[in-house]
Amino acid sequence: MEKKARIYVAGHTGLVGSALVRALNREGYLNLVMATHQEIDLTVQTDVSEFFACERPEYVFLAAAKVGGIMANIVYPAQFIYDNLMMEANIIHESWKNGVKKLLFLGSTCIYPQMARQPITEDALLTGPLEPSNAAYAIAKIAGLKMCQAYNQQYGTKYIAAMPTNLYGPHDHFNLETGHVLPALLRKFHEAKRQGRPQVVVWGSGGPIREFLYIDDLAEACLFLMNHYEGDKIVNVGTGSGISIAALADLIRTITGYEGEVVFDKTKPDGMPVKVSDVSYLKKLGWQAATDLRTGIGRTYNWFCRQGFAGD
Ligand code: GDP
Repeated sequence: MEKKARIYVAGHTGLVGSALVRALNREGYLNLVMATHQEIDLTVQTDVSEFFACERPEYVFLAAAKVGGIMANIVYPAQFIYDNLMMEANIIHESWKNGVKKLLFLGSTCIYPQMARQPITEDALLTGPLEPSNAAYAIAKIAGLKMCQAYNQQYGTKYIAAMPTNLYGPHDHFNLETGHVLPALLRKFHEAKRQGRPQVVVWGSGGPIREFLYIDDLAEACLFLMNHYEGDKIVNVGTGSGISIAALADLIRTITGYEGEVVFDKTKPDGMPVKVSDVSYLKKLGWQAATDLRTGIGRTYNWFCRQGFAGD
């Protein structure tokens, strides 16, 4: 990307989009195009079509998505599949119609089969049934990456697709019902400490293994791929190492300074037993994550505390 290029960050207020804007600004890309949800509804074709015709972006980061934790995915599957399919279809199609030079689509490692061999390599895609708790979201993300490949094949576009693992960092959603595990636990332990509660409840058995990538690392990886990668093959973006939910809870307990008891609510779903990505392809391309989990959680916790506890 040329420094003066017109770059559209779709979803710039979210966890991923806001980190992308920070990274682009840091690197001297200042000609950014952004629009809030109040200005355009990305699920509405005419809104997106008018926006592209008017703004004419040269590069697109497709970071707009409806996302949420395990419960949100179980309770709102229709919204997850509809919103994501519509946003992807509108943005990818309008990018093609308006001659966008390159597009980066952001998927998720939940596109992979529930029982995929761990750590999960990119070629595990569509080799088995999906984890039921987030199948609707996964199908939408699979459709998005397949759309990129189909447009490349038929129209000769340069659309690439990155599959990030579980993300966390500043500007996350700290909602206890609908958020992901890491922000939800940070908030639970923080509140429990402040209110002197004797127990913190962690959902599920504590046994599932997850991999966590700090959001500024993801943003850097996205810039790296946009500048150095071309091809149909999807690319995992993660750290390559996993941690159990029980160990994560213990780490967050230490970071927040909570001294009470941790209990597991086994009536809540565990979801995918293990989800750790194989990042050797990305490493071979020349990028690897820099932030270790303890440092990343520390930074996220500082940010969360500075929000005066709004963070939702
Ligand atoms: P997933 O990676 O798609 O399963 O999404 P989540 O980030 O929501 O959940 C990851 C794991 O953390 C699951 O096994 C949950 O049961 C577990 N977990 C433990 N406590 C919590 C919590 O307070 N919120 C969420 N969202 N998950 C939790």
